This record gives sequence, structure tokens and C-alpha cells, in this order.
Amino acid sequence: MAKKKTVQRKGGRPWQQMLLQLGQWYAQNARPLPFRTNVHWYRTLVSEVMLQQTRVQAMLPAYEKFLHRFPDVSALAQAPESEVMERWAGLGYYNRARNLQKTAQAILTHHRGNFPESMDEALALPGIGPYTASAVLSIAYERPHHVLDGNVHRVLGRLFLDDFRSQNGEQAQNASVSTSEQQQKPSALTRKQQPTAPASTKKQQENNGSSESTADPTRAFTDGMAAALMESSPLAPSEHNQALMELGATICVSGLPGCLDCPVRAHCQAFNSGGPELAARIPARQSARKQDLLLQTYWIRTGDTLLLLSSSDRPLFRKDWFFPCRILSAEGHPIYEDSETSLFDTPTLRGHFAHSIMNYRIKVEIYQCKSQIVRGGSRGKAARGSGSDRAHSKADRLEAPIAELNRHCPSSIVKKAISKGALDF
Ligand code: SF4
Repeated sequence: MAKKKTVQRKGGRPWQQMLLQLGQWYAQNARPLPFRTNVHWYRTLVSEVMLQQTRVQAMLPAYEKFLHRFPDVSALAQAPESEVMERWAGLGYYNRARNLQKTAQAILTHHRGNFPESMDEALALPGIGPYTASAVLSIAYERPHHVLDGNVHRVLGRLFLDDFRSQNGEQAQNASVSTSEQQQKPSALTRKQQPTAPASTKKQQENNGSSESTADPTRAFTDGMAAALMESSPLAPSEHNQALMELGATICVSGLPGCLDCPVRAHCQAFNSGGPELAARIPARQSARKQDLLLQTYWIRTGDTLLLLSSSDRPLFRKDWFFPCRILSAEGHPIYEDSETSLFDTPTLRGHFAHSIMNYRIKVEIYQCKSQIVRGGSRGKAARGSGSDRAHSKADRLEAPIAELNRHCPSSIVKKAISKGALDF
């Protein structure tokens, strides 16, 4: 059974403070996923294996059915293989199911029905590699093993952007800093020993027999970073690993992240250097899949003019004249917002439409506002600043004559919005 470690709330160093803030956020915002309640190594093992190639929303129905049919390790070990395959339907990568059953049988035969508590014994199980072993041992048994899935790789690459960018393979693998350096400067946090092969690479190999190279220097760097963070984390191992994974899965997503909701943005080098737009480029995009965004535009009319803003911090239509707006991720987390958007009277939703641009599939909403409360300087809120919680940057403003709108605002979004009746007020 899982042994719950007492969390030592002893943070005081900058990055330990960051982890404490992350832990507090996780305690309040973790999604109530079924394998997070009533934690048991068997449920953790099944969920981790299923999640290795499948998104959580797609995996949940299969997970519930699988656990209903095979509620414990004995039921899974003793079931006909054909039935295990049948209950795995829809998840693909059936080799995972075969290995999972072999693991269950080995646990029954060699470990008296319990997942072993040592890393060496866990790795000796069929189909269990460093990622799965670390996940189960940390989440179910509170052993201090770090995990590095794609989400954690992305989060750490952005948080420690300076080192992520500057350290090539040799530097990442040979870097060594003293404990005092680690405590003083999060960006210099590197592990003392040679990093092992990246956990995520092993995760893929253990399930697919992949021969993917282990030489990715950015993976080696974040793997070392993840290990070093875990070594001195003020959080319990289960909380530590799951909080990092949850941040990457829900806020620090691939593409434009929802930085305005991020609990650790004050510590984030990517955010403080270039905001969500810079973070979106870390790590380099490998997927051609477009990111879904919500763009809320606010049409503020005064006589025959409309209010336009220009901000170098806006991730879309950067530096162009555009309507006051908010940009949100598909999960509803704010990526960028002009501060004026909260100050307009009674915005009314007039319509919406879909629009594609660059790597984004955007739902555009048109809001009309009765009156404008604030005049004068404008400030964008997604901007970065040297460690400040919400630094602001200048956004210029223009009362543009409607007749000249296309000259100032050539985006096809404007034409579409007008065709949807955006000017009918
Ligand atoms: S501030 Fe933004 S880029 Fe940095 S960790 Fe948070 S969500 Fe990710």
C-alpha cells in the first residue's frame, strides 16, 4: 500500500518557493481524475501505461471499464489474454496491454502481489522502464524518483529557458554546480552527476521497442533539471511530479501557454523574457497540429471612430493596430489581455466565427460595448517583467475613423467580423 510521506514545508530558496507555490496550486486545481482518488499502485500503474500514448480524455472511459473488469492485479494476471486485448480496445498500441498483463503475472509470482518498492526490482518487471517505474514509485509509494514526460520537459524548458537554450549536449551533461549555487540561482540548477538517458525516451522505448536516440541534448538537460529539483523538493514526491505534469497538461500547454493563470510565472524565464509568444517556441514545435484559441475582440465605438490598440506583447497581430482583446487557451486559461477589456461597460456578445491563422485555429468572439470608461494610456497585461507578478508594457491607442478601418486593420478577421454585424451599433 502507498506510504504517505509527510510533506516538509521548509522552502525558503527561490526555486523551492516556486515549488511550494506549484504545490499549493496543484492542491487547489488538480483535475479530479479517478486514479488520483484512492491512490493504489495498481490503479497508478494501469493509468500510467494507458496515458503513455493516449490523451487523458480519450483514456478515461477505457480506464473505468478496464478497472471494472480487472479490479486488482490477480484479476488481470489470470484473465485470458484475448479479453485483456478486448478491454484495451480504442487505446491502440496493444503491446502495452500484453506487457501490462505480463507485469501483473510477474508481480503475483515474484512479489507476493505487490509492486516492488525498489527501482531495480521494478525495472526487472516485463515492459516496465524508468518512466513507469518512477511514476508508480513516486505516486503510489512516495519514493523520490523524478519523471520527465513531454509536459514536464516543456515546463522545465520554459522555466529555465536561459540554460535550456545555452546548454548544448556536452554542457548539459557535464554541468556541475555547487549546492550553494543551486540555492541562489534557479537558472543555474543542474545535476551533479551525468544524466541518465532521458526518462521520456525510455518511456517510449519500454512500450514500443523504439530505437529512438537518447542523444537529444534538450531532453538530457531537462532530465537533469528534473532530477535536481526532485532531490531537494519541499513537496512530497507524488505531489511534486503530478504538479509539474498537471501544469504542463493544463496551463503550460504546447503552443501559446495560459501564463496569466500560471502559479509560477514570477519565476519563469520564458515569460519574463518574452511572454507567451516566446514560451510558445520552447521547445521547438514538432507537431503540425494547430492550437485552438479563443479570441475575444471588443468593439468600442465613439461616434464614427473605433478604438484600436497596438502592443508589442500581444502574441497575435503583434504591433499591428487591433481591437482591445483577450486571448484564451482552449482550456480557458488567459494567455493575453488588454487591461481595458475589464473596464468597458456591459460588453454584449454579437456573434462569433472561426478563423485560422499560422499555427492557430481561432474562435473569434465579437463584443460591443456601450461606452468607454478609460481614456488615455493603455496597458497590456500578458506582458513580462523582471520577476514582477504582473508587469505591464505600453500599448498605443488610436481612435480610428470607421471609414479608414481597413487601412489600419487589414486582417481578414476584421472583414469577417463586419460581415457578422460588428458595426451595427
Ligand atoms: S509562465 Fe507561462 S511559460 Fe512559464 S511556466 Fe507558466 S505557463 Fe509555462
